[in-house]
Amino acid sequence: MSNDQSAMNELHWLIDMVQTIEVGLVVLDANYNIQLWNGFMENHSGVSPNSIKGKNLFEQFPDLPESWLKQKMESVFLLKNRTFISWEQRPYVFKFKNYRPITGRADAMYQNITLLPLASLTGKITHISIIVYDVTDIAINKLQLKTANEQLEQLSQTDGLTQLHNRRHWQHCMEREFERFARYQDSATLVMLDIDHFKQVNDKYGHPAGDKVIQNIAHILKQSLRETDCAGRYGGEEFAIVLAKTSAEDALNFTERLRQKIEASEIIHDNRKISVTVSLGINELNDGVVNTSNWLSGADKALYQAKQGGRNCSRIYVEGSDE
Ligand code: GH3
Ligand code: MG
Ligand code: MG
Repeated sequence: MSNDQSAMNELHWLIDMVQTIEVGLVVLDANYNIQLWNGFMENHSGVSPNSIKGKNLFEQFPDLPESWLKQKMESVFLLKNRTFISWEQRPYVFKFKNYRPITGRADAMYQNITLLPLASLTGKITHISIIVYDVTDIAINKLQLKTANEQLEQLSQTDGLTQLHNRRHWQHCMEREFERFARYQDSATLVMLDIDHFKQVNDKYGHPAGDKVIQNIAHILKQSLRETDCAGRYGGEEFAIVLAKTSAEDALNFTERLRQKIEASEIIHDNRKISVTVSLGINELNDGVVNTSNWLSGADKALYQAKQGGRNCSRIYVEGSDE
């Protein structure tokens, strides 16, 4: 075989491979007119190479992100460097349907894209190649993992009975608020809430009824909160709330409204109406509060005073009042 013949063979092989490879290959000239459109692109777009050759890419595919893609391609022409576009940056450039059965969850094919400068024999960049990889499987796996992790994180921060923050996560929020005060002097007030005579509810109506009461209080509490407040189930029948940017007086307003709402509400269990009351302790951050356990114990002391004061009421912690 002559050298010429062997070169011709190689060219045919290359053309065959370009046509059948499971990767999209497009070649454009400097005006974005299509010079090559391989089998992958034909299969997924439904447009044959013969019908598209010489035509302008953006006229043929008006859905393409034209100005964004042109900017990328212009820099490839200019800098003579290849560019990579990940599906995480932009899920796809060419909107192709996803037909893969195992990844039936995705409507469109996820794509990684390489933009490759093509030089003429003189070294001038005259064309650009768009290489399209179908990364739907990888993308779906990664997205599913991300969703699972987010759900897991959410679960690890949430109390199962009330869907409020659990104690650990609430403490984390409280520490964050404490640091904000240390840094910016943003006031914040901590509230401890405890159900009155809850043991009697359990004894009289049973533990499941008690659980329902706890859920009802959590529900009322959630409706009373602002976006920036943070409420958690601190213990069995105790709740803790951090009210951001709130003074003790404003917190008292909040707790009294909450207390009255709870007092006025009832749940029905086994055809019996159950009502409870709650007591609340309030402690505003100030320079005398040296750490978070200090902050917490002040609210706890105020709660104790509310219990001592006859229950179904709120008390503000006053420094030195417990000495
Ligand atoms: P006080 O007014 O002084 O707060 O009286 P109390 O009976 O509410 O206080 P105490 O702390 O003695 O009792 C709390 C009870 O709450 C004890 C426990 O049986 C009950 N409890 C704690 N966690 C749960 C829970 O998750 N579900 C139910 N149903 N009961 C709980
Ligand atoms: Mg208690
Ligand atoms: Mg109690």
